[in-house]
Parts: sequence; C-alpha cells; structure tokens
Amino acid sequence: MSDTEDPGFHPRTRAVHHGTRRSQYGEMAEALFMTQGFAYDSAEQAEARFIKSGPDEFIYARYGNPTSRMFEDRIADLEGTEDAFATASGMAAVNGALMAMVGPGDHIVSSRALFGSCLYVLDVLQKFGVQVSFVDGTDLDQWRAAVRPGTKAVFFETVSNPTLDIVDIEAVARIAHDAGALVVVDNVFTTPVYSRAVEQGADIVVYSATKHIDGAGRCLGGVICGTRHFVREVAEPYMKHTGGAISPFNAWLLLNGLTTMDLRVRAQSDSAAAIAAALQGDSRLTRVIYPGLADHPQHALAQRQMGSGGTMIAVDTGSKDAAFAAMNRMRIFKISNNLGDAKSIATHPATTTHSRLSDEAKAELGITPGLLRLSIGLEHHDDLIADLRQALAG
Ligand SMILES: *Cc1c(COP(=O)(O)O)cnc(C)c1O
Repeated sequence: MSDTEDPGFHPRTRAVHHGTRRSQYGEMAEALFMTQGFAYDSAEQAEARFIKSGPDEFIYARYGNPTSRMFEDRIADLEGTEDAFATASGMAAVNGALMAMVGPGDHIVSSRALFGSCLYVLDVLQKFGVQVSFVDGTDLDQWRAAVRPGTKAVFFETVSNPTLDIVDIEAVARIAHDAGALVVVDNVFTTPVYSRAVEQGADIVVYSATKHIDGAGRCLGGVICGTRHFVREVAEPYMKHTGGAISPFNAWLLLNGLTTMDLRVRAQSDSAAAIAAALQGDSRLTRVIYPGLADHPQHALAQRQMGSGGTMIAVDTGSKDAAFAAMNRMRIFKISNNLGDAKSIATHPATTTHSRLSDEAKAELGITPGLLRLSIGLEHHDDLIADLRQALAG
C-alpha cells in the first residue's frame, strides 16, 4: 500500500490519489497510455501472458490498459466494490452487466421508470428469451409479487429519470436476496459521491461516467462495479470479446474527473437545493420536484439513502408551450440532454429523451407535457435562480 492509499482517508483524498500507477519516470499526473497493444520481451512472455496476466501486464486495450485500469481501481475504491470494468459508455455498462449474467429462460425484475436506452436493452434481452417483469420501483409490494425463486437479477435506477422517484435499495435488496437474485443498480442520478449502494445491498453498480464523473460533458464512458468474481469472470469476458471497452483517452479524462467530482457534485447539489427552495411556491409552476425538499414524497428515504437531494430538479410548467417558452428564454441554462455537466442544462423529456414512449406510458411515469428536467451546473446559484425567474416570466 502506498502512503496515499490508506482506506482510512476520506473519499476526497482517495479520489485524488487512489489507483495511480507511475511509470519509471515518476510522473505526477496520471499518464495517458494511448496504446492499444503491448510489446512482449519474448514469444514465451507473450504465451505466458495469454495464459494469465499479472496486475501490471496488459495484452490489448480491448481487454485492459494501464490508464483504464487506473480509472477502474479508483472508481472501485470510491464505490466500495472489489473491482470495476470501464466501458465505452453508460449503456455499454448496463448492457454488459445484464447481458453477461443471463441466458434464455432467466428472469429479471426491473423498475419501469428507466432511461429509454435501458428499456431498449431489456427489450433485446426479451428477444433472446429472457423474461422481464416490470414494476413500479417505489412500490415494495410489486417487487415482492414479481420476484420469484430463481429470479436472476433485479434492476433499477436508484433515482429515476426524469421524475426523481427514489427506489429503496435496502428494501428491494432484501426482497431480491431472499430469492437469490443479484441487485443491479443504475446509480447515475445518485452519483458516486452520495452512493452507499453496496453497503445498502446492491451487488453491482453501473454508472454512465459521461455524467457527473466526467462532469464537463466531454466524453462518453461507463463502468461496472462489483465483486472481483463478477467483474473479472462474468462481465469482463463479455465486454472484452464484444468490444465495449473504454478508450484510454476517455478513461484518462474520467480519471481526472474523479479527482474533482466530490467538490463539484457537492457544490452542484448545494445549488440545486437553493434553486429548488427558491422555485418552491412559484405560481408559474404546478410542481417542483426535488428529493431534498421536505415535500418530496420520499424525502426521508432520500436523506437516509443519499444524504442529499442531488444535482437534478424537475419542474412542471403546466404545458408544453409554457415549457418551450421558458427554455427559449433561458440565458445560462443550455437546452441539451446531458446531465451532471458543469454547465446547467434544461431538458424537455416528453419531446426528447422520452419521446419514444406512448402518451399512456409518459402519463404513467409522470412525464407531463410541461415537465422540465434541470441539471444544475457549477455556475453561481443566484445567477441560475435569476435566469429561471426571467425565463418563467416570459
Ligand atoms: C445517461 C444515462 C445512461 C446511459 O449512459 P451513456 O453514457 O449515455 O451511454 C444510463 N442510465 C442513466 C440513468 C443515464 O442518465
């Protein structure tokens, strides 16, 4: 253990140092190993490495790379899992984690309130003979009714997109584990900063690193965190043979993203809390949804599970026209569909991220025509409040 890898150090300290691998030059910054291959000293060494690679031995960047491995080691340490596998995108992580563990006839129970592409992956699994039952993730009775002996996994977003419902990880994990099912969580909205998912019973945690881990909207990336057995024996063979590995360059950006993530996400969440409080009671909004507000239906659960309201707010402007008018007047908030960026973003889910859903499905998920999703960035919250107020005044 190097001096800076003491597990007693705070996450913010470990996020700066953990997992750094220095070359013979002793470089301070994490090195970018922009290489897909590795030269062997001899044919015998190549043979030996294909039989079994040591911790500092690499074969091909689709299998692993020193920069990618630094990112994997650092995020696994922060998440509290034994290991992690970095992927080309968040969807490669979701697809890899689920696809690698199931076969025809297997059963998965999933929350219905999912990111559209996650729903697509579950559709693909069904095409290959996996049975998928959908539940309202906030209703424990539905989880109890759907999970059965032999259920392979349960899957949910711990904070749903875009309506910010919180799924009780501990309670769902108890139900799943009683049936012998693995608990796979998509923890993007919670962020690794507020995640205690493993402590609360999750077996596998997936992230779109594109969001808060990069934190500047620069690159795609994802990660599958879990036990060493799951990551290296189940997920990695699938990922490395199907081509979902991360680019070393993106891993390098994300590794640097982790260094500042704690500071960024806490500042963004503080701003989100201030903005949500300022918007609450605004007569031009029919709803302000923020898990950090006392009137959020699962405020107590959010506090217990995350200890924060997070960086995302949803507001209902009452109609599509009102939502569009407000968006078109925004000066600081950008109209886009990423989240977790340093720049604040407004998204109209009904016509963009969730436009593929039927009107009934949108209604069921609370995606009303007037709903706006706000990702709070690193700007000063007073400027953001003023921007939203002038946009709504239009
Ligand atoms: C963005 C997102 C994903 C997909 O991540 P990509 O990096 O865009 O592939 C999956 N789940 C959630 C909750 C997301 O917000």
